[in-house]
Amino acid sequence: MTTSTVAGRRPLIAANWKMNLDHLQAIAFVQKLAWSLKDAKLDYGTVEVAIFPPFTDLRSVQTLIAADKLPLRFGAQDVSAHESGAYTGEIAASFLKALDCEYVIIGHSERRTLHDESDEEIATKVAAAIGHGLIPVLCVGETAEDLEKHGPSAVPVAQLKAALAAVKPGADIVVAYEPVWAIGSGQAATPAQAEQVAAQLRVTLSELLGADSAAATRILYGGSVKASNIAGFMREPNVDGALVGGASLDLTEFSSIVQFQKHVGT
Ligand code: PEP
Repeated sequence: MTTSTVAGRRPLIAANWKMNLDHLQAIAFVQKLAWSLKDAKLDYGTVEVAIFPPFTDLRSVQTLIAADKLPLRFGAQDVSAHESGAYTGEIAASFLKALDCEYVIIGHSERRTLHDESDEEIATKVAAAIGHGLIPVLCVGETAEDLEKHGPSAVPVAQLKAALAAVKPGADIVVAYEPVWAIGSGQAATPAQAEQVAAQLRVTLSELLGADSAAATRILYGGSVKASNIAGFMREPNVDGALVGGASLDLTEFSSIVQFQKHVGT
């Protein structure tokens, strides 16, 4: 049993596919993943598994999961800060909710850097998601330069404070600590580094939302997570799961990450 299960937080393993796999590939992948986890007799009571495919896959993934009653969750990789209207190319939170999305990733470092998303815009997206009953998976994390200049926690904590400025205690959110230098680099943080920042984020959650919300909120680690390093992260008391990028596109690897409990005790 991991420490987060002891603390009452069900671990979450989330697959961020980014701009990979079209809707036909998504159907095949989700079907095979469900079979693989069924074969492995995964106890979904001890771990939640969520897929974040591109927008164009969502309807197919929704239909498959509903038709086959698969115990998998899903969400989108981004959401508009706006309700509706003249915002070409954007997707409203209400549309995601209508597709049964449970989660939405907000503030991923690729959106912050490649699309210039500001802390203010991210805060508005978080509010829009919560307003429509979606659970934001809020990504925070420092660049290598930030790490050198400000140390490990300063930037993620500041991003968390900005994003949650208008969020009320009791709101259902997930925080993903993703050091930018670890994303896609093959150079993951150490479990101790992840724990240090996750603990600081939980202290900040307590200041912002109160002790109960802080204790209930899952904090994920993301950045070059693989089957070979997941156990180390999951042994840490403040790490409640992982947001997985590259390795979530490999069925065997992702299935093994989901089954981290098999390696945690070893
Ligand atoms: C990510 O982009 O959210 C991520 C964690 O990517 P990777 O696992 O490939 O580092």
